[in-house]
Amino acid sequence: MFDRIEHYAGDPILGLVSQFVADENPNKVNLGIGVYYDEDGKMPVLECVKTAEERIADPIKPRPYLPMQGLAGHRKGCQDLLFGADAAVLQEERVATIATIGGSGALKVGAEFINQWFPDAECYVSDPTWGNHIAIFEGSNITVKKYPYYDKATNSVRFDDMIACLKGMNKNDVVLLHPCCHNPTGMDLTQAQWDEVLDVIKAGELIPFMDIAYQGFGEDMDTDAYAIRKAVDMGLPLFVSNSFSKNLSLYGERVGGLSVVCPTKEEAERVFGQLTFTVRRIYSSPPSHGGHVVDIVMNDDALHEQWVGEVYAMRDRIKAMRSKLQAVLEEKVPNQNFDYLTRQNGMFSFTGLTPEQVERLRAEYGIYMVSNSRMCVAGLNSDNIDYIANAMAAVLQ
Ligand code: PMP
Repeated sequence: MFDRIEHYAGDPILGLVSQFVADENPNKVNLGIGVYYDEDGKMPVLECVKTAEERIADPIKPRPYLPMQGLAGHRKGCQDLLFGADAAVLQEERVATIATIGGSGALKVGAEFINQWFPDAECYVSDPTWGNHIAIFEGSNITVKKYPYYDKATNSVRFDDMIACLKGMNKNDVVLLHPCCHNPTGMDLTQAQWDEVLDVIKAGELIPFMDIAYQGFGEDMDTDAYAIRKAVDMGLPLFVSNSFSKNLSLYGERVGGLSVVCPTKEEAERVFGQLTFTVRRIYSSPPSHGGHVVDIVMNDDALHEQWVGEVYAMRDRIKAMRSKLQAVLEEKVPNQNFDYLTRQNGMFSFTGLTPEQVERLRAEYGIYMVSNSRMCVAGLNSDNIDYIANAMAAVLQ
């Protein structure tokens, strides 16, 4: 009965975690998965989250189902963060937002909605992109194609090729974009480049789908949302998936949101209804605990301010690690250019190491990166950075 079931080789990123756990090397470092670790190599519990948790736990309350769309305060938190609390589009009630099971859940609900209501649309993702983008959209029976994005030889964006590809797409095709902190390359578009991309999207009547999982880790909360807000100003229809996994350090609580910007309030209401129906058919309602944490932190002015400061502290520590790694590598491998490290944003760096070099780092040094050469810079700290820089220098020579 089950003998035709195919073997699943495992997820290339999550699979590294089990390999890492089993590794007995005392110096082992996990730079594979996209998780922020602090200077002590620990996953932080943000102070604002601790306060929110205390408010939820005391007194202990019953745990009813949440509505299909999640808590109102969670949804408002997503909207204010993405579009700006005073945005006209919010006052005009043209955004349909639901709370979702992390950013992944937002992508899945969005993909199901697109497959149902835009069945001819193909989805274009950047080459390269986060591997699960492809898996999620294909899993919803959407044809996934790639647009050129990153040039490994120059460590920069293949902007002209990207534009040419966008110009060849069909009306209603979906373009998946990373507004900030591109995963896996860390290389973002400039604001002038975003303006051009969005002009082409508008002219071609394409549907932008912006996936933002690292808001606050690039420049700041508002600048990181530039592309989203510009698309809204241009009157484009827009899908936005957002994740709080990284910027609230709430990975396992599975909190995120899906927002669809519509031309009118009336359309937004119908889209909202269909989004909730999609949720009902897949998992019925989102998780409660994380939803309450998001609601409290995002809607309490003092906690919100504290939160922004905590995110910026994480951002600044990553930036400091990038500069340090660049400096050490430039000293040890003087004939190579490592300025890509500080030209990239967010948690990831595309190091350009070959799969063989990545494997040597794992086997000889216990340093884990994704085989496409993606390193999670947020796993570096003052204790391990020299060890990692030395190991990288050794495999590069
Ligand atoms: N989009 C991107 C670009 C991501 O990097 C991630 C997380 N790795 C997600 C979406 C999914 O977020 P979550 O973990 O909240 O499901």
